[in-house]
Amino acid sequence: MAVTRTIRLQTEVPGPESRRLAEREALAVAAPLRVHLPIYAAAAENATITDVDGNVFIDFAGGVGVVNAGHAHPRVVAAVAEQAERFLHTDYTVVPYETYVALAERLCALVPIAAPTRAAFFNAGTEAVENAVKLARLHTGRPAVIAFEGGFHGRTLLSLTMTSKSHPYKVGMGPFAPEVYRTSYPNAYRGPDAITALAQLERVLETHVAPEHVAAVVFEPQQGEGGFIPAPQAYVEGLRALCDRHGIVLVADEVQTGFGRTGRMFAMEHFGVEPDLVTVAKSIAAGLPLSGVIGRAEIMDGAHAGAIGGTYIGNPVAQAAALAVLDVIEDEGLVARAIVVGDRIREQMHAWQGRWPAIGDVRGLGAMLALELVRDPGSKEPAPELAAEVIDAALARGVILLKAGVYGNCIRVLCPLTIEEPVLDEALAAWEDALAAVLS
Ligand code: PLP
Repeated sequence: MAVTRTIRLQTEVPGPESRRLAEREALAVAAPLRVHLPIYAAAAENATITDVDGNVFIDFAGGVGVVNAGHAHPRVVAAVAEQAERFLHTDYTVVPYETYVALAERLCALVPIAAPTRAAFFNAGTEAVENAVKLARLHTGRPAVIAFEGGFHGRTLLSLTMTSKSHPYKVGMGPFAPEVYRTSYPNAYRGPDAITALAQLERVLETHVAPEHVAAVVFEPQQGEGGFIPAPQAYVEGLRALCDRHGIVLVADEVQTGFGRTGRMFAMEHFGVEPDLVTVAKSIAAGLPLSGVIGRAEIMDGAHAGAIGGTYIGNPVAQAAALAVLDVIEDEGLVARAIVVGDRIREQMHAWQGRWPAIGDVRGLGAMLALELVRDPGSKEPAPELAAEVIDAALARGVILLKAGVYGNCIRVLCPLTIEEPVLDEALAAWEDALAAVLS
């Protein structure tokens, strides 16, 4: 393995500057936000983050799936600077601008929907999801939404209602939005299988909400926060057939799976199944806040004028970043690169699984990979404490990892797809060292 020396730890972690900032933070920043790693960023470039003490880490968290095209790609930075010089804001619904139209054109051509499509932009992923539901409700004239166990769609009222994790997201936050119904997401490791999960959904339509009452099914083609669980082919096909049968809008939430992460531009392409609406955010703009809904023209155009909007609906600087991101993805072949990066990591994860039985499962599409830690491979009892220890041990060795999963016992990979091969090897070597320290 050709291991570089990208990681540079020149103080203890956290170092004195990070510790000083933590002291200031405790007196100024709200406590619920102080759940982060103990280091403070000073700079970031491609797959690395340098902290305020000059320590250099390899970043496998990618700002939670935001930097598929790398940190501060020079083409993205240039596009941002160029647009910032020209203008920052007009409100597109008052005075429109070309970046909006250009990005809509690009994404309409890219989403895996053969019919004519339209796009609308917002800021965070949660807004995209809520607007997709609004559009589906207006299109169908129906109120209900079906979401999934283990799903994550954001933290505003409707999306939080659709999100499925009590701690820390939902506890104490009710009452929640009405007309959200839930069914199981298929899970090859823990069950149910695709057929059982489809039968459960049919049962929900028998016992909880009539299909003619349902506007949308909103699902992640591979669950993200829920633990990187890919949907089986048969399930996605079954969902499409069910939605067709009942006139329900199928929304693919590609906020985390999008923009090459899974080895396709959009994860739905793995299944050869067309959604009606796609929600996007995160890696679309490499760190600037931008989200969108792209979908069938008759749904997107069906809403009345002003039905969707807001002061910040597609900021031109963020959109300039997004156009540059799409250029980088295309010109640097990042969709194909996700397969190469993913294969390398998966192979390593399977080797680790052979060595340490606490790694119960290795899964995911392309470079959207996770391992799941269990107390015992037979009982599959989740081991969130092991995941936390491995993440701490990896940070001490210079790699930033991120957990996932309803039980918090998965460790996921969201590294830049632009990561250089030797840097990837170096990160995997440090991660392996961390696993050995905790599991051996
Ligand atoms: N949908 C999915 C699939 C997500 O993974 C997330 C965030 O992790 C969201 C929606 C919400 O996005 P945001 O945090 O930008 O509101």
